[in-house]
Amino acid sequence: MATSKKVIIIGGGISGLATAYHLSELVRRRSFPLEVTLLEAKPRLGGVIETRSQEGFLLEGGPDSFISEKPAALELSKRLGITQEVTGTNEKFRRSFIYKNGKLVRVPEGFYLIAPSQIQAFIQTPLLDLATKLRMGCELFIPKRPGGGDESVGSFVRRRFGETTLREVAQPMIGGIYTADPERLSLEATLPQFLEMERHYGSVIRGLFARKKLGKKNASRAASGPRYSLFLSYKEGMETLTRKIVSKLPEVQFKVSSPVTKIRHAVRWEVVTQQGGVLDADVVCVALPAQQAARLLAEPAPSLSRDLAAIPYESVATVNLAYRRQDIPHSLEGFGFVVPAFTRRKIVACSFSSVKFAGRAPEGMVLLRAFVGGALHREVYALEDEAMVRTVTEELRHYLGVEVPPVFTSLNRYPQSMPQYQVGHLSHVASIRSQLAVFPGLYLAGNAYNGIGVPDCIKSAEFAADAIMKYVRPEHAPKSLASFHSRRLGLS
Ligand SMILES: Cc1cc2nc3c(=O)[nH]c(=O)nc-3n(C[C@H](O)[C@H](O)[C@H](O)COP(=O)(O)OP(=O)(O)OC[C@H]3O[C@@H](n4cnc5c(N)ncnc54)[C@H](O)[C@@H]3O)c2cc1C
Repeated sequence: MATSKKVIIIGGGISGLATAYHLSELVRRRSFPLEVTLLEAKPRLGGVIETRSQEGFLLEGGPDSFISEKPAALELSKRLGITQEVTGTNEKFRRSFIYKNGKLVRVPEGFYLIAPSQIQAFIQTPLLDLATKLRMGCELFIPKRPGGGDESVGSFVRRRFGETTLREVAQPMIGGIYTADPERLSLEATLPQFLEMERHYGSVIRGLFARKKLGKKNASRAASGPRYSLFLSYKEGMETLTRKIVSKLPEVQFKVSSPVTKIRHAVRWEVVTQQGGVLDADVVCVALPAQQAARLLAEPAPSLSRDLAAIPYESVATVNLAYRRQDIPHSLEGFGFVVPAFTRRKIVACSFSSVKFAGRAPEGMVLLRAFVGGALHREVYALEDEAMVRTVTEELRHYLGVEVPPVFTSLNRYPQSMPQYQVGHLSHVASIRSQLAVFPGLYLAGNAYNGIGVPDCIKSAEFAADAIMKYVRPEHAPKSLASFHSRRLGLS
């Protein structure tokens, strides 16, 4: 019988939990003894995934959905036996709005983040003026950018569709997802599909039409807006996922309220907690946002730590607001709206949560959720709690005409939670990966590397778990050392 190896996972968000779960799957499959301990700083597990019930409402603090286009979350749900809990968005209202000239204007059908894929809807939309539509049409004839390499989303959209499209449509739609400055955001790392369309079809519009023709309707369908047709959640909220993982892992030692302060490396790994405990391990998986990972790795891996610290993060907050339906004059026939940053208003976006998903508010009531902060709205995140809620409430009066105060509000802050994938991000991650190869038994998972969404985090966790298993059972290691190392970050 093989001796039991010790694995310590640091961080109890979805990345750490999914690493623990996949390790347990692998251990079961191969009947190999592994002692897994997960250390979490806070008294609760789940990280930014946070669901709460109040007065018959179901409130999401952090993520409110995941996309099915990236299958990791749905596949994990199947393995956990919770597919019956998965719920889709309300088909009747699969559309969104953009704030323009004091009003919420519907995003035309088939519009995919930066470009149209339905001609008639595009021609008829009041969202864009004639000059902008003509300029967007010219995209069909704009040559590809010579040479390769990364480019900012801002530069790409401006080059292909013009300044107005960037300012009035692309920035708010993309900002609603990445809370980033498009002038710094890496196209290659966040929206590679558009780069691919330019390379392959010579035009994004042509690429979108070709994809439609090929039957790959993911991008457009009959919906409009960011990608609403593909958004899924759980009937009882996103925390269903993290709670279920924990309940399936009786063999894992979960230590909450155990912030890790230091990692040391000699023959084995040593993990020091704030309470002064020192745990030794064969493997350490750091499943934290990069800034926090950087702090812990400063002593054993200073150069790696510097590279991790160079991935910037932004702080965001959400404000859930409960209203009586009769108090909101707007029709609310959509999933929400985004607000262009150039308008200098105070929120990034607002979801009509109880329209988007069933079961979020009692009969006759409405749940809205405003998204605040990010790279272009730091001053709003900096407000005191009361001022932030007041500001959001006033903003909603402006967009939706609601004069009556909400029945209640609930504010959640997520400091330094949103990684900003800057131009050159993928090369930066490759450099992190190559440095990691020097430290046997050290693994990283999380939202800093190859995707910020919940499915991306799960994917990075599962790759990390696969690589850990191969490390502790070398007889199962892949033949090529290069491929072994490339998987250590959980990214390849
Ligand atoms: C407001 C918001 C809305 C979002 N909306 C969506 C969405 O709709 N769809 C989507 O797919 N994605 C969304 N995302 C992104 C996605 O939710 C996150 O990227 C993902 O959940 C991050 O998970 P994680 O486990 O990597 O990190 P986290 O959830 O941040 O977990 C890290 C954990 O590590 C713990 N920790 C930190 N330091 C230490 C330490 N020293 N020792 C021990 N533990 C430590 C923290 O307490 C935390 O629990 C959203 C994110 C936010 C913040």
